[in-house]
Amino acid sequence: MESTKFKELITEAFEQINSLEGKGEKASYIPELSRVSSDKFGIHLSTINSEEFGIGNYQEKFSIQSISKVFSLTLAYKLLGENLWNRLGVEPSGTAFNSLVQLEKDKGIPRNPFINAGAIVIADVLLSYLENPKEDFLAFIRSLTKNKEIDYSSKIAASEKSVGYRNVALCNFIKSFGNIENNPEKVLDFYFDICSLESTCEQLSEQFSFLANNGKTLHNNTQIITKSQSKRINALMQTCGFYDESGEFAFKVGLAGKSGVGGGIIAVHPNQYVISVWSPKLNPKGNSFKGMLFLEMFTTSTEQSIF
Ligand code: GLN
Repeated sequence: MESTKFKELITEAFEQINSLEGKGEKASYIPELSRVSSDKFGIHLSTINSEEFGIGNYQEKFSIQSISKVFSLTLAYKLLGENLWNRLGVEPSGTAFNSLVQLEKDKGIPRNPFINAGAIVIADVLLSYLENPKEDFLAFIRSLTKNKEIDYSSKIAASEKSVGYRNVALCNFIKSFGNIENNPEKVLDFYFDICSLESTCEQLSEQFSFLANNGKTLHNNTQIITKSQSKRINALMQTCGFYDESGEFAFKVGLAGKSGVGGGIIAVHPNQYVISVWSPKLNPKGNSFKGMLFLEMFTTSTEQSIF
């Protein structure tokens, strides 16, 4: 589709949804996240032909939270290859992002890398493999684009750590099955740092463009992961990116995507484009209320979804 048509349809959907009463609640279980203004709404689209378009608060930083789980999976997959799957699975969980229930039956092997349990195991893998985990992980994400502004927020990490009881439970429970190698406190500190990353819609769609481009960055043509790994990460986003709402996202939007409780959503149409949305109020499943609605309207009006 030509870019003026894309811009027109994005603007139309943005205006329509922006005027709606924002249903949902902010993620107040992390105190810092409840301080963000509920009215924020930003969109940014980046195509693999390097065409870009943004609207609303698309250049404002927000807490990307679980969207970062795609970056940590990418680096762990790059480092360990298929051995990574000895530590966690690739099946949708059908449970909430912070659920403990399946771990007992599954003997400490999390269902997938996008629920908290799986991302905690990935944080453990990175701690074992990276010399300076916090710095090296950030450097990895910064290498994905020309723009190097993404960074951790120590305030948000501390805020989550002060109340992160469920994640503490998850990490210790997994450790009891032998699937955490490092000290649980260190693993959790790194996990909270990863969740605290802040980025803008504009930067996110650029950072994720390698997943629309068969594993290769757009800005300098670097093969970050293999084509097959890129395909598999997209498949995981498609099936597990929205927890127990992944089916609904596939059904209504038809893109590979990942959400975070900061209200961000990133969605990928392989070989076509990446689109990022941010609106802080969440639906009961912990996914951005307006973000989901916008993406549904976007893929419906453009007829540009995977299916
Ligand atoms: N930091 C959040 C948590 O662990 C991430 C959850 C999310 O974004 N879905 O609870």
